[in-house]
Amino acid sequence: VRYAGIEGVRGCTVRSVARRGKYLLLALGPIELVIHLGMSGRLFATTKRSRVPHCRVILHFSGRLDLVLVDRRRFGIMRVVPSGQYGGIRALQLMGPEPLSADFEVNQFVQATSRSRTAIKPLLLRQRLVAGLGNIYVDEALYRARIHPATRGLERRQATRLHGAIRQVLREAIARRGTTFSLYRDGLLREGDYYKALRVFDREGQLCRTCGTCIVKMVLAGRGTHFCPGCQAVRRRR
Ligand SMILES: [Zn+2]
Repeated sequence: VRYAGIEGVRGCTVRSVARRGKYLLLALGPIELVIHLGMSGRLFATTKRSRVPHCRVILHFSGRLDLVLVDRRRFGIMRVVPSGQYGGIRALQLMGPEPLSADFEVNQFVQATSRSRTAIKPLLLRQRLVAGLGNIYVDEALYRARIHPATRGLERRQATRLHGAIRQVLREAIARRGTTFSLYRDGLLREGDYYKALRVFDREGQLCRTCGTCIVKMVLAGRGTHFCPGCQAVRRRR
């Protein structure tokens, strides 16, 4: 199931490459190749035909180029579907707007976050309100917006700040080619150096760059969560 129908790409030409949330979408005419890197996957282009540990799929292109999927923990997927038909991939079907597109609309975000009874961090990780945010960028965006990760029901001004913070964090991270603190590499196997700009993630016990308070790590909805108790104090709703 993980690499379902992959044989079907034989002989196809890649017509375009797109992305929705954390899914990569390669249009191959009547079919589409859907790729998700999971927790530890790496996808890279290479002209070297050398053996790589944990290699799951190699796509040979004309002109000696290989596209290689390496995935130690096997949470990633590479699946062929009829073009545009994501019925078998529920997360993709239900995905919210792209955060850097005009579809990510501030008033809708304010409304959706004000009435939710789910804590804001797991709500963002669910991908329905906005696409593409993982553990690192949710922690960083909540810090920038000065919102405690366990807050339920945001006030309008909090939600407005968070909407802007999400875009800001993602733009900066993209400019630095992502965050490498363990396995992540880009398509040419380069590390992303947004790691150096992180304010809370993986900084447990270090001092907040804004207020000097010790950064705390807790578990929220099963995920390691980093925040500053000074900047992100819990406020009671009136
Ligand atoms: Zn602080």
